Amino acid sequence: MSKNILVIAEAKEGELRNVSFEAIALGKTLSEGGEVVATICGEGDLNSMAEELIKYGADRAVTVANAELKTYTPEGFTQAYKAVIDQESPDGIVMGHTSIGKDVTPKLASQLETGLISDVTEVEEGDDGFVFTRPIYSGKAFEKKVVTEGITFVTIRPNNIAALEKDDSRSGDVSSLDVDVQNIRTIIKEVIRKTSEGVDLSEAKVIVAGGRAVKGPEGFEPLQELADELGGAVGASRAACDAGYCDYSLQIGQTGKVVTPDLYIACGISGAIQHLAGMSNSKVIVAINKDPESNIFSIADYGLVGDIFEIVPKLTEEIRNM
Ligand code: FAD
Repeated sequence: MSKNILVIAEAKEGELRNVSFEAIALGKTLSEGGEVVATICGEGDLNSMAEELIKYGADRAVTVANAELKTYTPEGFTQAYKAVIDQESPDGIVMGHTSIGKDVTPKLASQLETGLISDVTEVEEGDDGFVFTRPIYSGKAFEKKVVTEGITFVTIRPNNIAALEKDDSRSGDVSSLDVDVQNIRTIIKEVIRKTSEGVDLSEAKVIVAGGRAVKGPEGFEPLQELADELGGAVGASRAACDAGYCDYSLQIGQTGKVVTPDLYIACGISGAIQHLAGMSNSKVIVAINKDPESNIFSIADYGLVGDIFEIVPKLTEEIRNM
């Protein structure tokens, strides 16, 4: 039976996040031929983003533009999304498992009095409907869930569900919804960027991560060069962050970001369980470590035993000359 699915899209500094396109792809699957509506909230003219969502597979889009939605606030965005949900009455809702997705979806689920399956990495058809897989216990086990009643409300981990090809010939209706956003108790006075410009760590296809072995902020420079050469981002272990070699916004792991790039290059990282919790689902893992007994090699697809300060620049050079 076909279903109507609402995809809650997200933008960062005027650019749609890739996970929004991945959510549309899942929305298409869940709709079983029904309608996929994408919504985008923010300030100003959101039409070009709405049209892009349609090019990635949404049938139509609903924008909610309001000066109060310039930056994310839990109250403002919850009200905006709830208004769209009330208007559309979807059978299912899909959103990215991003910082905003993690914050806003439990609030919406409680208002809708429905369940929420968060951090989904895989979806397949089962005898009783779609089966949603999500990692639990820091990625040491996987849980499979089926929705038996109510709205199918899921958040998806970025980089796990393939987006559809962009089709520039697609068009669809873009409508706007006026929402009287009220009672915002949070005032964002200033946004201070901690991460460098460029590829967003949580959506990066390639991550070059450094551990305690980088020995200092300058030790990240060769890693950044390799990441730049591969069009990727730099990440770090907690030990590297704790030592002050880099900002905590780069931390990957149980208490940092959870990432699933196509390629993860771990440089001088021992592979503590708390680090693995944030990256073990990466598609290909390359480990560079001078200790052949290091635990990181137990999950690596390719291992290089040696000094990162020798190997990383050589790798960069080789890739540059390819
Ligand atoms: P180390 O364990 O010190 O490993 C350094 C590695 O570098 C070693 O394997 C060594 O052989 C290798 N090495 C040294 N020099 C070189 C060189 N020149 N060339 C090549 N290899 C070299 N950690 C996280 O990363 N993320 C988290 O989110 C996180 N959350 C935590 C939450 C809790 C509650 C706790 C208790 C811990 C958490 N940790 C987390 C910390 C975690 O347990 C480890 O301490 C940390 O991951 C170790 O970082 P590391 O691998 O960089 O350092």
